Amino acid sequence: MERRRFIKTAGLGAVAAAGAAASFPKVAISQGRVEWRMVTGWPKGLPGLHTGAERFAQRVGDMSGGRLTIKVFAAGELVPAFGGWDAVVSGSAEMAHDAPYYHISKAVGAAFFSAVPFGLTATETSAWINFGGGQEVWDKLYNPFGLMALHGGSTGVQMGGWFRKEIKSVDDLKGLKFRMPGQGGQVLTKLGATVVNLPGGEIFPALQSGAIDGTEWVGPYNDLALGFYKVAPYYYWPGFHEPGTTLQVMMSKAKFEALPKDLQAIIRSAAAAEMDVMTSEFNGKSGPALNELITKHRVQLRQFPRDVLIAFGTASGEVMQEVLDKADPNSKAVAVSFLKFRKEIMAYSRISDLAYMQARLLSFKYPG
Ligand code: CA
Repeated sequence: MERRRFIKTAGLGAVAAAGAAASFPKVAISQGRVEWRMVTGWPKGLPGLHTGAERFAQRVGDMSGGRLTIKVFAAGELVPAFGGWDAVVSGSAEMAHDAPYYHISKAVGAAFFSAVPFGLTATETSAWINFGGGQEVWDKLYNPFGLMALHGGSTGVQMGGWFRKEIKSVDDLKGLKFRMPGQGGQVLTKLGATVVNLPGGEIFPALQSGAIDGTEWVGPYNDLALGFYKVAPYYYWPGFHEPGTTLQVMMSKAKFEALPKDLQAIIRSAAAAEMDVMTSEFNGKSGPALNELITKHRVQLRQFPRDVLIAFGTASGEVMQEVLDKADPNSKAVAVSFLKFRKEIMAYSRISDLAYMQARLLSFKYPG
């Protein structure tokens, strides 16, 4: 969707949504055709996230020749942005597309399937899920709730966020009112910030009114669409807290297993396809968006100082240790699997992706 139109209509969606929640549409099943409802955690039309959820639903409909259609509801249209878990558990929707870390109050281990501070990149996360035992511990974590989930997209590495004032030392974080979800928010809390989580559609007004001093969201592509640059000029990197945020297609396990095998395979394939397409969309569109933010909107790019990053890292390590020490057994099993994989992949990424990108930055003549 074109950006200005998105900004103009996003607010209207929230108003219309309040009335829509009153009556839940019934699931339609006739002549072997199934219609599912999918709620998302995203403002209607938000590029990348909500459009990605819609693309997933469209793909399932196309691949199944219309035998399984998925009706998509944006945040607030059927349930609130963070209501996906309860909606699927209660049966008011069959499926949700959102970020697992929105649900750490239900299961602490859910955070590991979206983003962990100083955790895995998007590529590394896929490797853990598909070939490092990640899907198995995810299945065990969600099973007691009657849920199951697949990865359904990633934003890639995120930015550190938007600040009204520069962050020159850890002291500058003290008392800062900042929007950051999941374990990243726990890290900022340890360093003296007052952390809130707000759904995407509510961040800009909170920032504009001064209810919050700053926010993280995703990266240049999405952040440009939401207009944060109008209020907070300093844009920090890197996003230590979300190095490769992945989103989920979360479903009722019983309803999934009741589907014919081919429709199950279609859902799995469409989710895997969206994992790839959404990641490439965020990566592909963030370069031009970053250029627009800097040249057109005069955004001030800043790197977090080394001492601040080390403080973030130390606090992140404490958050991890607390999961290992205090979490429920299934969440702890997720953390153990994740941390073992992190250690192994870091040894390889250091001499593969990292080493290559550093080599590419060396000074030599090259066209372009
Ligand atoms: Ca984020």
